[in-house]
Amino acid sequence: MSEEKPCHCHDPSPDRRAVMGAGLALSAAAVLSGEADAAPKPKTLPAKGFAANSPTSGFSPFKFQRRAVGPKDVLIDVMYCGVCHSDIHTALNEWPNTHYPCVPGHEILGRVVRVGHDVTRFKPGDIGAIGCLVDSCGHCASCQEGLEQYCENGFTLTYDSEDKILGGHTYGGYSNLIVVTEHFVVKIPHGMKPANTAPLLCAGITTYSPMKHWKVGKGTRAGVIGIGGLGHVGVKIAAALGAKTTAITTSPDKVKDAARLGAHDAILSTDAAAMKANRNRFDFLVSTIPHDHDVQPYVSLLRRDGVLVLVGALDGTAMSFRGTALIPWRKAIAGSMIGGLPETQEVVDFCAANGISADIELITGDTLDAAYQRVKAKDVRYRFVIDMAKSV
Ligand SMILES: [Zn+2]
Ligand SMILES: [Zn+2]
Repeated sequence: MSEEKPCHCHDPSPDRRAVMGAGLALSAAAVLSGEADAAPKPKTLPAKGFAANSPTSGFSPFKFQRRAVGPKDVLIDVMYCGVCHSDIHTALNEWPNTHYPCVPGHEILGRVVRVGHDVTRFKPGDIGAIGCLVDSCGHCASCQEGLEQYCENGFTLTYDSEDKILGGHTYGGYSNLIVVTEHFVVKIPHGMKPANTAPLLCAGITTYSPMKHWKVGKGTRAGVIGIGGLGHVGVKIAAALGAKTTAITTSPDKVKDAARLGAHDAILSTDAAAMKANRNRFDFLVSTIPHDHDVQPYVSLLRRDGVLVLVGALDGTAMSFRGTALIPWRKAIAGSMIGGLPETQEVVDFCAANGISADIELITGDTLDAAYQRVKAKDVRYRFVIDMAKSV
């Protein structure tokens, strides 16, 4: 699929697991701070949601336990949860070693219903959101810089990570409630449409973070490759940052949709003549393609000092190219993974200020299997979001 994906945030790949494994010991102290008072057996809250029980089972209703609210925790009644391509990769074990039952979901938005006594940023009634991370060590250089996604001691993903408090593995947002340390909850400004805002927690931050790092703005010639859940938000953000923005897609109907999303123009990547005509044009390209793909045709689109940033493909992206593809024009290929908590709050605030949200189709949890098939068939414009109140 060339268009939807995600984030690598989700990356259950061997790399992710290695990082997580390395971090278990150090993260424990921070994690325990929220529940240490609760004695040998942590107290729990009953929760319900939707789980896949095997790569081929499809989703079914699932009851499980969340941890009780600790001093630094926020309990959120989940209103909406986006369906990211990473959810699909994980639920279907396309990234190996998924733990079952698997409750995906890392574009979570809901209402705060309870807070621990040390919580300062939230109170009951607030709208809060949770993305791909629910914990990190808190003290390494990356965490100190607010780059929790690059925690050097291992972060905890919202789902399918080791649950360091209850044991087992973490369960995501396809559920009615979630308990998360305050630091990992983002505030949602008044006036944002909640269902359309949920996807910003992965799709938004994953495209925004590299644009900020490589200083995309007025005067930048920027291209977004793959116009799916991530890419359609990426186009909106790049345009709002002031870049001359181009949508690059394999879908002719998305070429037609590009202007509505805010793009200056669009390129049909299967059109060899169009790709040739746009060589040496872009300062910045972000590829949201969620699977292995040949990067060479996109490198050719870069101008001197241009960068191609991969955010979606975790598997063996074809990196075979001649040095002459990069060397003569000082081109670069880079990667970027979701974003830290300060920047996630920043992108949500940026989107609120610029009227940006995702184009969505609301579904209920009992239709997840069909939704997954449609995402795989690129038949969604552009993000499925689960209406949790109508689902559980
Ligand atoms: Zn850290
Ligand atoms: Zn995601």
